[in-house]
Amino acid sequence: MSESCSHDCASCSQDCAARDLRLPANQYSTVKHVIGVVSGKGGVGKSTVTAMLAVAAQSQGFQTAILDADVTGPSIPKMFGLHGRAEGSADGIFPMETKTGIRVMSVNLLLEKEDAPVIWRGPVISGMIQQFWQEVIWGDVDYMFVDMPPGTGDVPLTVFQSLPLDGILVVTTPQELVTLIVKKAYNMAKEMNIPVLGFIENMSWFECPDCKKRHAVFGESKLDGVAAEYGIPVLARLPIDPKNTSLADKGAVELSDTDALKSALEAIEKK
Ligand code: ADP
Repeated sequence: MSESCSHDCASCSQDCAARDLRLPANQYSTVKHVIGVVSGKGGVGKSTVTAMLAVAAQSQGFQTAILDADVTGPSIPKMFGLHGRAEGSADGIFPMETKTGIRVMSVNLLLEKEDAPVIWRGPVISGMIQQFWQEVIWGDVDYMFVDMPPGTGDVPLTVFQSLPLDGILVVTTPQELVTLIVKKAYNMAKEMNIPVLGFIENMSWFECPDCKKRHAVFGESKLDGVAAEYGIPVLARLPIDPKNTSLADKGAVELSDTDALKSALEAIEKK
């Protein structure tokens, strides 16, 4: 942001990060809360956590939706067993509904072949995500979770800028360079005036099914220290749980145990 910023973005041509570029939703959509789920890199369980948060919210009676903005690695439809192509009308595209009624839109629901690779450049991907927001008829939604593209590159930046995010949740694992990731996510969110609601540490431990001892498979977590430094709460810690992996693989993520995410959901509801 320039030091002479007048905060009047309409009459300013500067391409600054704080510029309000948020887009209006589809005229048939009223989304009360939009929560972004981010991670420093792929494979840490960001999509799994997004899906489980949505399952938890929907089971508490909130109409919930997932906007799958992880366009190059979309895994949300598969976790819910959603296949085929979303339908549209002259007014927009209809999201698909999961068994419990969660509304989902993902590039996988638009491709002719769901296993076709998405090899688009950044601006095309960003445009697609904006279309998911503007052209999908979401209807009345209490909580929308956005499965963000990993990292802090161009595409996540566009999502940050164009969607009216209430806040973000950062998913980490114990083996990551957590200080760096937290710093980047924190700085990016701060520049956009978006609060970091908290951290969710995934794959924190594995409980031996025989002796019930917990093993820190990926090493001891360093998250508490970093979280305290930034004044951001650790909202939940999830174990490595092969049961959840197999449910997600079978398209039955709605049957997974989401109790551990209750505190994260409560923190979101208080916002
Ligand atoms: P990301 O969205 O960060 O790329 P995913 O959510 O797709 O990561 O997860 C990557 C893989 O790890 C998937 O196969 C998923 O089922 C598995 N996974 C994620 N979280 C856990 C967990 N807590 N326990 C066991 N497997 C997990």
